[in-house]
Amino acid sequence: MSQCTRRQFIGQIMVGASALTLAPIVKAEEPKPALPADDAYAKAMGFVLDTNNADSAKFPKHAPDQSCSKCQLYSGAEGDDLGPCSFFGGRLVPPTGWCRNFKPKSPA
Ligand code: SF4
Repeated sequence: MSQCTRRQFIGQIMVGASALTLAPIVKAEEPKPALPADDAYAKAMGFVLDTNNADSAKFPKHAPDQSCSKCQLYSGAEGDDLGPCSFFGGRLVPPTGWCRNFKPKSPA
């Protein structure tokens, strides 16, 4: 039978207390909120909820077949109403959206 020294006992208590202190920090990350179309930075990036409403005069590289669902920076699943955009820090955008940072997905 092993005996626990006072030093080992205190060490184990300290490890346990540290784990309890850190537990709230390592909880699962909460989903980010949706990116509003009227957000000032989003507007500066030409973000629209529907690619058909993009300002093609201001963003001549825009094409109607470009949308968030076809962008490398979008990680929503097919069929989702919204998905995270890494350019906007994981904020949620609709698959129909668009902004000037559109990067086409590589062909599968
Ligand atoms: S970076 Fe891509 S996914 Fe994000 S808003 Fe712009 S077009 Fe959509």
